[in-house]
Amino acid sequence: MRLIRDEAPDSGNARVGTRFWIYPQPPFIPGYEQPDRVWLSIARDEIGEGPSDLSMYVADPLYDKQPYGFANLPPFGGAKRAPVRPGPDRHFDNIDPTSRPFLAVHAYACVRFVLDIWQSYLGQRVHWFFDQTFPRLEIVPFVDWDNAQAGYGFLELGRSDVDGILRPYALNFDTIAHEVGHLVMLSETGVPTVTSPDGDFFSFSEAFSDCVSLISFLHFDSAIDRLLRRTRGNLLLYNELNRFAETSPETQIRLATNFRRMSAVTREVHDRALPFVGAIFDSIVALYHRDLVANGCADRRLLDVDLRELAQDEFDTFRQATAEAFSTKPLYFKLALTAARDAVGAALATALKTLDPNTLRLEEAANAVTAAAQGTAAELLEENFAWREIIASR
Ligand SMILES: [Zn+2]
Repeated sequence: MRLIRDEAPDSGNARVGTRFWIYPQPPFIPGYEQPDRVWLSIARDEIGEGPSDLSMYVADPLYDKQPYGFANLPPFGGAKRAPVRPGPDRHFDNIDPTSRPFLAVHAYACVRFVLDIWQSYLGQRVHWFFDQTFPRLEIVPFVDWDNAQAGYGFLELGRSDVDGILRPYALNFDTIAHEVGHLVMLSETGVPTVTSPDGDFFSFSEAFSDCVSLISFLHFDSAIDRLLRRTRGNLLLYNELNRFAETSPETQIRLATNFRRMSAVTREVHDRALPFVGAIFDSIVALYHRDLVANGCADRRLLDVDLRELAQDEFDTFRQATAEAFSTKPLYFKLALTAARDAVGAALATALKTLDPNTLRLEEAANAVTAAAQGTAAELLEENFAWREIIASR
């Protein structure tokens, strides 16, 4: 007779991942007061105190530090707070989300969460563009400074100051995801060595990072559920998706659902990024609608009208039909949204490798994203990039 020994719960499973808490939106946003428990793909035995691992580590200054700049780069050499340790089970979800050490754990978890997603889309590990000098990314979870920035070897987070209310960016997933977007892009395209006056590298970089923030947010099950329940499946309504940059350090007004076209923007990089972000958002929504219609969850005519110019009564008709379908088969809505998200996300990531950072134009980036997309996604992206005047209409 053979003895089969039951494994003790959780023993030997150190490789299935590590648990953390993440706030999908900062906890002061109504509806997001509680964090989500997430599993990061990194194994428990690959994370040390800090947290830290082979590609990144947290350095949390004990006193205030100056933000990094050209003459001032990591590693941080000053006095540091004690590195945060995992619980006895080696997960990091034992840290009180209202405590100071949680800032370090949350910042790390957000960077890892976003990296997991974009490495999946890329189909490979991201090798930091600075890894010849610094083997690991240094994450500074708190600097007394009204900004957040990612650069050569670091990602550091200050705090916002709105009417005297200070809020650490370490608790702001959108901000962190945006900064990780910059790092991922630079690591894939390489750093530009010359900047041409009519180049769009920096505008595209802002657009790409906002898309990383938006698409990564859509990877929280709780966020998708909340979004769909609140809008009853109708993404044309005002919702979390167009609020994602609300507390972004770079500007308050970068919205994914904007109606800006290239003829209406300035050369300022964030402004010039808006049509691209809008085209990406519209393509996700359009793909989502196709899927809903194909599954009998939305009015067919939704595909034939210009949604940007919808009259109120038409909008109400669509909303009614969608809401009815959503109440009986919500699962289809969730599947449609995640499929749309991933089709567009994967195309964006795949496009990076083909871009030359020195000569990059938005038109070229749009064509590369379209070329990297499959079937209907490619058609819809092309249509939306054309509407935004990023590429010529055919
Ligand atoms: Zn940025």
